Amino acid sequence: MKKILEELKATDRIAISGHVRPDGDCIGSCMGLFLYLKKALPGAEVEVYLEKPADIFSCIKGIEHVKTDCSADICYDVCIAVDTVSSRMGDAEKYFNTAKKTINIDHHISNASGCGMVNYVNPQASSASELVYELLEEELIDEPIAKAIYIGMVHDTGVFQYSNTTPHTLEVAAKLISYGFDFSGLIDETFYEKTYVQNQILGRALLESIVFMDGKCIFSAIDKKTMDFYKVVPKDLDGIVSQLRTTRGVECAIFMYQTGQQEYKVSLRSNGRVDVAKVASYFGGGGHVRAAGCTMQGTYHDCINNLSLQIERQLEA
Ligand code: AMP
Ligand code: MN
Ligand code: MN
Repeated sequence: MKKILEELKATDRIAISGHVRPDGDCIGSCMGLFLYLKKALPGAEVEVYLEKPADIFSCIKGIEHVKTDCSADICYDVCIAVDTVSSRMGDAEKYFNTAKKTINIDHHISNASGCGMVNYVNPQASSASELVYELLEEELIDEPIAKAIYIGMVHDTGVFQYSNTTPHTLEVAAKLISYGFDFSGLIDETFYEKTYVQNQILGRALLESIVFMDGKCIFSAIDKKTMDFYKVVPKDLDGIVSQLRTTRGVECAIFMYQTGQQEYKVSLRSNGRVDVAKVASYFGGGGHVRAAGCTMQGTYHDCINNLSLQIERQLEA
């Protein structure tokens, strides 16, 4: 595989961006690449565009340089879409559409062919962060770069637990921790630690969850009113669907929160028998076999009815 610097020869202006509602992998991979390109190409202008990262990611060097405002019309020499297809980049998509050259670094099975002129797409990779690591010259990696990439890998593998973790993932992780950052502390701070209201709303979602299809599916929804009551934002709901998935006997967990009058953001998790990437793709979303998402219209009853039909089809097949 060609290293990323070979694709960036004689470029002055580079933009990096991930997907809307950025998760740990999205932020870690974008920031690792950002720090690396700033170092490797000191003469170039490098920008990273993301929606405001959660406070837990303030331990990543340079996070204060993240640009959240995409109103300026800039034509970049290169735009790099990381952990996403261009259609899920939000406001930064315009930089992808107008750039002279586009690069896509992604690991979603729903993005098989890539959306860039140059594509580094591997659904076998645990995370976009693991893919970014492959594209860097080892001698230029330093502690802050290693730490950002490591955080991304930790988040998308559930601390190296999910089935996307491969021997290669752990080899990369081993190299990364040799840079000497406090990996144990940052797993706690960025992955396990929750605020009081995050735990409260998790409790509420578990309490109100419903099992169906003979216990093979579990579902919970949080409406706008409840989110306002607890004063939580979507990032505070991360992890609820993973907790639902751990219920014994469950093959598929569904969590949704209200994003509009008749609109829900849906998260799906599978224990292996259901391909949730397929389910999410059917409704215009995407993701991985065991973790996927989409946005759906209608009441939450409509959403759950439509989803369960697709899930049932797979379980019966
Ligand atoms: P989430 O449930 O939002 O944590 O997402 C689970 C996985 O599916 C992540 O890898 C997301 O990047 C991916 N995903 C979520 N929503 C979408 C979507 N609308 N389109 C494509 N991929 C998605
Ligand atoms: Mn992601
Ligand atoms: Mn990812």
